[in-house]
Amino acid sequence: MKIDLHVHSSERSACSIASEKDHIQAAIRFGLDGLVFTDHDKIMPQKHLIELNKKYNPFKIYSGVEITIKEKGEDLLVIGLNNRLLEEKDWSYEELYRYVKEHNGFIILAHPYRYKDYVNIDIEKYIPDAIEIHSTNICRNDEERIKKLAERLNTRVVNNSDGHNSKHVGIYYNVLDHTPKDDCDLVKLLKEGKYHCEGCESRIKLHNEIVEKKEEIIKKCIQDGKDGKYYHKITGNWEGEFDRVVMGKTNMI
Ligand SMILES: [Zn+2]
Ligand SMILES: [Zn+2]
Repeated sequence: MKIDLHVHSSERSACSIASEKDHIQAAIRFGLDGLVFTDHDKIMPQKHLIELNKKYNPFKIYSGVEITIKEKGEDLLVIGLNNRLLEEKDWSYEELYRYVKEHNGFIILAHPYRYKDYVNIDIEKYIPDAIEIHSTNICRNDEERIKKLAERLNTRVVNNSDGHNSKHVGIYYNVLDHTPKDDCDLVKLLKEGKYHCEGCESRIKLHNEIVEKKEEIIKKCIQDGKDGKYYHKITGNWEGEFDRVVMGKTNMI
């Protein structure tokens, strides 16, 4: 089954313009079989998760959340757990890691190196179950070093969209060996590495063509001494795109 493990819904992520329904319908259109909604520090209530699974059956939706380690500026995806404590606490990485391990979830380092050249949490000591290697928030030039990092830590990589827009859902995804029957089964399969990573080349190409045009505008703004706020004001686009170009990175994926 094809699954995207990192998607944001407008119901629980203020930064997303796509609702659960928009994402699910787009995912089905793009040939995916399942999604994990990983909203920012917010979990989809279990009852709602069951309802969505009934409504869109055989399409599958599993539990997830994206937790920001606030002091460190790093984001972790927690897959397969539906405990409200996850959204109620201000986690340190060590505490979150221990909690996920104790409760048999799956923890993924999201978009490493997005705004910096290092990882600001102790992943050497607390090795995540996987590291995200492709998404709409991972610069394609960082692929090699993410790969090397995962190899050195002897951990896995995953592909996701980090979709905040239904146009992005499933642009990168994972192909699981079978369809997990529930959250627990999904975690087991991921831990056993019974999947491989894929992306949709034609959509990635189209995405990068759009990014190229955006970056021409960003570079012009930089030349004119304008900032990210100005870029957002004139285009409606996210300031993060501007910040990455300032750093010498690209938003191409
Ligand atoms: Zn977001
Ligand atoms: Zn995200």
